[in-house]
Amino acid sequence: MTADDAPDLDALRAAIATCRVCRDGPYAAALGPLPHEPRPVAVLSSRARVLIAGQAPGLRVHASGLPFDDTSGNRLREWLGVSRETFYDRDCFAIVPMGFCFPGYDAKGSDLPPRPECAPLWRRRAMASMPQVELVLAIGQYAQRWHLGPRRKASMTETVAHWRDYYFANQGPRILPLPHPSWRNSGWLKKNPWFTQELLPTLRQDVDSRIL
Ligand code: SF4
Repeated sequence: MTADDAPDLDALRAAIATCRVCRDGPYAAALGPLPHEPRPVAVLSSRARVLIAGQAPGLRVHASGLPFDDTSGNRLREWLGVSRETFYDRDCFAIVPMGFCFPGYDAKGSDLPPRPECAPLWRRRAMASMPQVELVLAIGQYAQRWHLGPRRKASMTETVAHWRDYYFANQGPRILPLPHPSWRNSGWLKKNPWFTQELLPTLRQDVDSRIL
């Protein structure tokens, strides 16, 4: 199978669910293996027209297996203007982060970045399996780097501030860059009121028009 094939979704889900590359693969030796058993968390969908491209699960999501099952998820659902029920309806939203497993903590107790093995291994196949996706919500710098490539600006703030450039000009699925909805970004939201005043209404209207 090439990276651009449209693989059978169930087979891809099963392959992702059993992936242990970050524990057993060749890179794990150099980077250090995951300090826990991998638990890939991703929602692939053949019907959802909105893809939430997040960063990587945190510890709580690692425990529950439910993406965005935390305070970040509550804020994201508020941004989207949807209930939990709609958010977890895979006919409405696909949820595919840049790293499918909780990456562990750094020395300061913050979540590590998504494992670098994950996107090169899975992302093209995941995207190819969901050709119906019309809107990609690229949350945080890792998703923005992958989905926007060289069109990304120098910083996450600049990229999000230029959201109209991507949202209105993109060929293929529309891409809307967003900051991470973590409480750690509450200060960012206060400093950048245009996000709430200008971007969020467009986001809500767009999502409302695309969910079934
Ligand atoms: S993070 Fe991705 S590549 Fe690593 S074990 Fe989990 S699913 Fe596999």
